[in-house]
Amino acid sequence: MDQIIQSPGKYIQGAGVLARLGEYLQPLAARHLVVGDKFVLGFAEEMLKESGKKAGISLEIATFGGECSQNEINRLQAIARQTDCAAVVGIGGGKTLDTAKALAHALSVPVVVVPTIASTDAPCSALSVIYTDAGEFERYLLLPKNPDMVIVDTRVIAGAPARLLAAGIGDALATWFEARACARSGARTMAGGVSTQAALALAELCYHTLLNEGEKAMMAAQANVVTTALEKVTEANTFLSGVGFESGGLAAAHAIHNGLTTLADAHHYYHGEKVAFGTLTQLVLENAPQDELTAVMTLCQRVGLPITLAQLDITEDIPQKMRTVAEAACAEGETIHNMPGGATPEQVFAALLVADQTGKAFLQRSS
Ligand SMILES: [Zn+2]
Repeated sequence: MDQIIQSPGKYIQGAGVLARLGEYLQPLAARHLVVGDKFVLGFAEEMLKESGKKAGISLEIATFGGECSQNEINRLQAIARQTDCAAVVGIGGGKTLDTAKALAHALSVPVVVVPTIASTDAPCSALSVIYTDAGEFERYLLLPKNPDMVIVDTRVIAGAPARLLAAGIGDALATWFEARACARSGARTMAGGVSTQAALALAELCYHTLLNEGEKAMMAAQANVVTTALEKVTEANTFLSGVGFESGGLAAAHAIHNGLTTLADAHHYYHGEKVAFGTLTQLVLENAPQDELTAVMTLCQRVGLPITLAQLDITEDIPQKMRTVAEAACAEGETIHNMPGGATPEQVFAALLVADQTGKAFLQRSS
């Protein structure tokens, strides 16, 4: 199989970069459709228009309707056509960015993605998740290319609730371990080939950045200020993890996350929070060295990520629920089958219970 790495065309990150958006958009088109969250447009609309004017381009502003659905994409497509926009900019949370990516694909124009939170590694990827108008999962839309630019204003990231940055750390924490598992098994990644040295190096750098800077970055997020640590973790959560997962591959951690989503108990936890417990479970499943387990649990505890089922509000009927999670995690087509030697529901069931036990023992020892 060929080795493949893919990434956004440009990644730009800085404190206050939103005020300079116009100069970055200028080479792409003369008229852009900006799809933004209501909340973000509330504080940024004037500044965006100003930066567009300075750069000699015009920005049409459309408020995102709230769901990344086909109807919403069609509605925005009509606006883009009426206003003659030749590029799309998405500013906001995950669904806004996914809508912008899908919209630009439908229009065959460039797309710029501006995440306002660092809670997942989705912004850099060539993927949109389409929902129904009622918010139920409908389908994955695989895009032929990654966003032309990803632009992250760390001042905006620092202004968001700190728990969102922690969730991003949880999502990014899985990247190295899943990429390592795929490299060992020779699994095909989302990029369509086997991983490159470059993707593995980015994934490993992602993990070390979280270990060294994660706790410090959380302090900055709690104080709503930008520090070097917050900048490094924003890059890890968004870019290193984004390229790392797409071109390094997913394995058990995300499949276990998907299994956990079948339980109503943990519905109110973020993607990255469930992925953190999935990561611990993958490490148990692959019988990782004790040092590695301890390093991962220490980081999770310090940044506020769950390492026990109770911390995900799963407290009753645990054996029966874990059977369900293990079955779902091992469904056909799940990324758990990228693990070296594969994985059975029986092994995953055991790993889930032992991960919970390991997390409980760690919390007891450190209290
Ligand atoms: Zn993820």
